[in-house]
Amino acid sequence: MALKTPEEFIESIRGRKLRIFMNGKKIGDILDHPVTRTVIESNKASYAWALDPKTKDIMSTFSPLINEPINRYTHVCQNTDDLVAKANAGCFTAENLGTCIYRCVGLDTFHSVWSTTWEMDQKLGTSYFPRFLEYLKYVQKNDLSVAGALTEPRGPRDTKLSDWSDPYLSLKVVEKRSDGIVVKGCKINISGAYASHEVVVLPQMAHYPGEEDYAVAFAIPTDTEGLTYVCQYTPFSAEREQAEDIYELGNPLFGERETSMIVFDNVFVPWERVFHCGEVEYAGQFVEKFARTHRMTCGGTCKVGFMNIIVGACKLLQKYKGLTKARHINDEILEMVVLKETARACGLAAANLGAEDPPGSGVFLPDEVMGNISKLNVCHSFWKVLELAGDIGGGLVVTMPSIRELKNPETKGYVEEYLSFGSPAGAERIMRLTKLLQNWTAGLHGVGTYHGAGPVMAQKIMLSRAVNYDKEIALVKKTLNIED
Ligand SMILES: Cc1cc2nc3c(=O)[nH]c(=O)nc-3n(C[C@H](O)[C@H](O)[C@H](O)COP(=O)(O)OP(=O)(O)OC[C@H]3O[C@@H](n4cnc5c(N)ncnc54)[C@H](O)[C@@H]3O)c2cc1C
Repeated sequence: MALKTPEEFIESIRGRKLRIFMNGKKIGDILDHPVTRTVIESNKASYAWALDPKTKDIMSTFSPLINEPINRYTHVCQNTDDLVAKANAGCFTAENLGTCIYRCVGLDTFHSVWSTTWEMDQKLGTSYFPRFLEYLKYVQKNDLSVAGALTEPRGPRDTKLSDWSDPYLSLKVVEKRSDGIVVKGCKINISGAYASHEVVVLPQMAHYPGEEDYAVAFAIPTDTEGLTYVCQYTPFSAEREQAEDIYELGNPLFGERETSMIVFDNVFVPWERVFHCGEVEYAGQFVEKFARTHRMTCGGTCKVGFMNIIVGACKLLQKYKGLTKARHINDEILEMVVLKETARACGLAAANLGAEDPPGSGVFLPDEVMGNISKLNVCHSFWKVLELAGDIGGGLVVTMPSIRELKNPETKGYVEEYLSFGSPAGAERIMRLTKLLQNWTAGLHGVGTYHGAGPVMAQKIMLSRAVNYDKEIALVKKTLNIED
């Protein structure tokens, strides 16, 4: 059977020779490190859900490519029902993890690579699409976790790539051999790659004649020679490293959204894993089709799951603190519900209005306008939900002593008495809930949500291309009987 058990997943990522660093130190085994372990736990959950009778309809589906049940996170959408199921799975994973399912970026790159290589083969006579299908079958048969890497450091934003003093600020092909290519450069902010089996690499931006060496897409195992991972390090990483008990933390088991830089130091990629090399006119399309798919994911699915958690925490805290009759708090929670359900509606609209793109290719992508609106909407509404949750949580969200005080004989009594607020719920429950709210409102998620899948300007650029106002102008002319 293609589907791996959670235990098989753990075994499959054990023993890989990764070159990985965090906070100035080399990490020996990512399974033993408290921060990198959270990424493994998140991906592991998706293997368990695909086999659990209660959740398998959400997390698994049938593959017509290999004629077997596969994980939803290796399935490329072939109709709008698939897109809706993908949206629902994104919400489900997020509300159960409170962080990324690190298989989502890779899945969204598959949609882009399918669509773009199919079109390239039709128009240029290349043979990338069958190569990609073979790769996808391999991923499905082995139930692999796949990360996706687009974002690059880039040189000065107001300067052309050819004028950058460092040519490797965008990933570059430095050698073409009979058996493959060699690439050099870096991808930054990449979610969970070190705990995945594979990473799909796409261009970050459109390229132009003269930039052929930058127009490249491929897939490699995450332990390929020449790769180095330099992990993010935040106050949340430090806190987790020194925690005695994960229940001192805001998201105990699954942690933050963990990323790393991936440095490609002359990395070899065999031709059978190269999906684009030099066709500059298609580099932008890889990015756009990825963005279209990923913006539905980030805007209309996973953030809905996150907001479900925040709403739940606020409702519970309201009860524990005797605030159930406070009218403004009920209003604030209702406002959160409206914001999260609007996000869900945008995601479902993007899925339901999705279409086969290009026609005949077999891959369905979300609607361009609604996909971008999903993300643009959530960039703003997520901050608003955090603001409201911060009000409901009170100053304690940022002033709370450590939950570890409950184990300190010298302070335990004070904390139990004064931070219970006289509630039968007791101090520990209130503190754990408040810590959860700190994780959201005073943590990494505001900026993370804003930039993940691109900042507001990126969506506005796409929308300004997709919307031409002809229909709206025609409506007004008809209403007023204006003729040209
Ligand atoms: C939690 C998280 C997870 C992520 N996971 C992944 C992942 O798995 N894979 C991946 O590939 N990427 C990932 N990203 C990267 C994400 O896509 C980028 O952060 C995002 O596209 C913004 O790019 P940047 O961070 O380089 O910011 P910048 O591009 O530096 O943006 C900063 C500001 O500068 C503006 N700006 C940038 N360039 C220009 C320009 N040329 N002209 C005018 N204004 C400009 C932007 O609009 C923005 O206002 C992740 C990011 C986050 C936060």
